Amino acid sequence: MLFPPSSWLPHAPLERLQLDWLTRSSIEVAVLRLDQIDPLISGNKWFKLIEHLKAADLVGAKGIISLGGAHSNHLHALAGAGKRFGFGTVGLLRGHPQDTPTVLDLQAYGMQLHWLGYGGYRARHEAGFWEPWRALYPDLLAVPEGGGGLLGAKGCMQLKSMVARQLHGLGWSGYDGWWLACGTGTTLAGLVLAEAGAHPVHGALAVPHDHGVAQQVEAIMQRAGSPHSAYQLLDASRGGFAKVDAPLLEFIEQTEQASGIALEPLYTGKALLALKQHIDAGKLKPGSRLIFIHTGGLQGRRGFLAAPSP
Ligand SMILES: *Cc1c(COP(=O)(O)O)cnc(C)c1O
Repeated sequence: MLFPPSSWLPHAPLERLQLDWLTRSSIEVAVLRLDQIDPLISGNKWFKLIEHLKAADLVGAKGIISLGGAHSNHLHALAGAGKRFGFGTVGLLRGHPQDTPTVLDLQAYGMQLHWLGYGGYRARHEAGFWEPWRALYPDLLAVPEGGGGLLGAKGCMQLKSMVARQLHGLGWSGYDGWWLACGTGTTLAGLVLAEAGAHPVHGALAVPHDHGVAQQVEAIMQRAGSPHSAYQLLDASRGGFAKVDAPLLEFIEQTEQASGIALEPLYTGKALLALKQHIDAGKLKPGSRLIFIHTGGLQGRRGFLAAPSP
């Protein structure tokens, strides 16, 4: 079985975020700490994997094969889950062999790696791409890049109940909406499905608008047969995916010092900065209560914010 035993219940704490710019504007934010669910497995990528692991169990697969880059949070969560629950994992990597902190972890967790080069990786959407891999690993189920699609979104629906269970502990009787970083929009789609129109979901795009996130979210909603569209996508990419600038890094550093919560610059840092700009522009009513999802990704940060050598 790939799906974990019910004794392993991932729990993401919901915590108040205390920052002066929130207090000033009378906006309350609680952070759902997906970065804290497990020592080996972190972030939204675990939730996106859940239904894929169930599907693998249904067809009797012995493990999972998937793809990603040399800093991939998805491959990291997959390899961590494989080690944690004892199933085999294979990663197809973009580019040429390199030892990033992520790649070293993947190897330490027992994931078998194949480097596809850049051209080979680009071919991943072509018909027949998976055939040789299926022949080589007949016991493994292939999961799309990032664990996306309707299955990925369904696994994220439980985030709503995870929050609902913890509202009381914050002294909140409810909340007015969600705020989270989006790459493909799969996690956002899961929340929109779970909310079924009850609360709006704000997605801060880590990629520019032309990456088709709106279309991907629509495709998931259609496949789910859901009429709900209570969401909004905002550009938070700051000029492009993985483009990092000094004000962003400064904001991340200040936030970490003031709140003790670490963010990374690709997704969560940009998403929280976009929330601040939204608030500064007067677009949220004073008194609003928001759930901010910390989608994890701190492992990938090691490749960006290289620690100073001792
Ligand atoms: C992958 C990722 C996202 C984006 O998730 P989607 O479901 O693709 O929108 C956001 N934050 C972090 C840290 C991620 O690793």
